[in-house]
Amino acid sequence: MKNQYLYFITILFLTTMNSCVNSRKSVDLVIHNAIIYQVDSAFSTASAMAIDQGKFVAVGSDQAILDQYSGYEVIDAERAAICPGFNDGHSHFLGYGLWLTQYANLVGAESFDQVLELLLHHHENSGEEWVLGRGWDQNLWENKNFPDNTRLDQLFPNNPVVLIRIDGHAVLANSAALKRAGIDKQTTIAGGEIKKTEHGLTGILLDNAADHMKSFVPKPDSEQKTKALLTAQEKCLAKGLTTVTDAGLDKEDIFLIDSLQKSGILKIKVYAMLNPTDENLSYFLPAGPLRTPHLTVSSIKLYADGALGSRGALMIEPYSDEAGNRGLQLEPTTYYDSLCGLAYESGFQVNTHAIGDQANRLVIDVYAKHLKGKNDRRWRIEHAQVVHPDDLHRFGQYAIIPSIQSTHCTSDMDWADERLGAERIKSAYAYQDLLNENGWLVNGTDFPIEDIDPLHSYYAAISRKHPDGSPAGGFQPENALSRAETLYSITLWPAKGSFDEKTKGSIEAGKVADFVMLNNDLMTLSEHEILKTKVRGTWVDGVKQF
Ligand SMILES: [Zn+2]
Repeated sequence: MKNQYLYFITILFLTTMNSCVNSRKSVDLVIHNAIIYQVDSAFSTASAMAIDQGKFVAVGSDQAILDQYSGYEVIDAERAAICPGFNDGHSHFLGYGLWLTQYANLVGAESFDQVLELLLHHHENSGEEWVLGRGWDQNLWENKNFPDNTRLDQLFPNNPVVLIRIDGHAVLANSAALKRAGIDKQTTIAGGEIKKTEHGLTGILLDNAADHMKSFVPKPDSEQKTKALLTAQEKCLAKGLTTVTDAGLDKEDIFLIDSLQKSGILKIKVYAMLNPTDENLSYFLPAGPLRTPHLTVSSIKLYADGALGSRGALMIEPYSDEAGNRGLQLEPTTYYDSLCGLAYESGFQVNTHAIGDQANRLVIDVYAKHLKGKNDRRWRIEHAQVVHPDDLHRFGQYAIIPSIQSTHCTSDMDWADERLGAERIKSAYAYQDLLNENGWLVNGTDFPIEDIDPLHSYYAAISRKHPDGSPAGGFQPENALSRAETLYSITLWPAKGSFDEKTKGSIEAGKVADFVMLNNDLMTLSEHEILKTKVRGTWVDGVKQF
């Protein structure tokens, strides 16, 4: 009897064990012992997750996940923090890659002498006829006036030289380059400015005049573009980015990105805004927004004005540091109106660059005419940098989405008040006010104008301080974002900003497994440790890519 009983118990035990093992579902990857910020609607946290075939299948406690899933690969995260993959809501991915591979890097140059030194070095290595540079900023120099091309002409009498300012809205060109572009003392370009003195051209070109010059720079071929995209991807994955934006691409570049993604070489996901050329619009608009698992083409990029640094931003009242100058409106209002009409009919978003308060007002006026009231078209204003208090509530009224760059605030805060004056500066970089309008916004870096690192955006948004911690208390701290809001702004909300929030942007069962593991917990670490945080790994569609 006793033996029989033991036998029965043993069988029962083995059966239970067996069914337990068998009922654990096999998946590609299980991660446990982590601090997982899901960034879902409840801002949930978890410690484990199961991933299969590129998607999150379950997220929960260690016990729940380990009991239910057996991973082909199992990672003990040792309490590392995990967030959804970062998504840069406004960047220039291809431009950044070209900048890395074809341009002298002038970012941070502390004098014009240093700019010349960097150019000479670059030219020696590249051997190209055109000498290209990007990233200079005269605000970092002792003489904060725009430079001129006298010394460029001495150094490069025959090679055309084109140097793009940090904000992309101003160019310094030498005489050889100006000649190639057919620019002389008589030239005028609508929506642009060609700086002159009594001695002639200085080589400084703003906005549409700068674009005119850039259009003469030899176009990279598809091999050079491929190299640029892959170089940019490597840098981005290393910073935890799993989606990037390209705020202005042409059809052939979009085809190239799509083909590189389909062949599996380009893993990073791309939200591509269309340059508003006839060729792009006539190809893409009739078919409606294009979505593949890796590429979204659902918006048109427009430019209303220039940038604040070069006083090209369009203001209601003149600049406080230049009498009579209100900046530049780049196109007539009818242009914006007709493109918005086309976009509305085709179900496309419109994402318009607007920095100055008059540019923001103009864009809101045009959007309002087409949107009429609350809507879910997610038309965006890129930058939304200076918004007149009378216009702020119209963001909510017409559900216009602000697409901000929190590092622009900290890059500009030392000199922006000179341009804007004590009163107007209060409604500049007003991110919390803008967030309150719709309950969400998009954050990005505008790289290569700013550093690509999303943690710089995170630090800037919550602290509104320089990396050295100044100014104490932060610049206009009432417009800082909370840590949770900032995490949304670089993950779920940019996905929403491209209508992709149902498939990505948070760590939830059913979504694609794009995520990043960090060596620090962004929600609890001290402010000054944020910029020291390192990415331990970046996964795209459940596969570790960095
Ligand atoms: Zn941009």
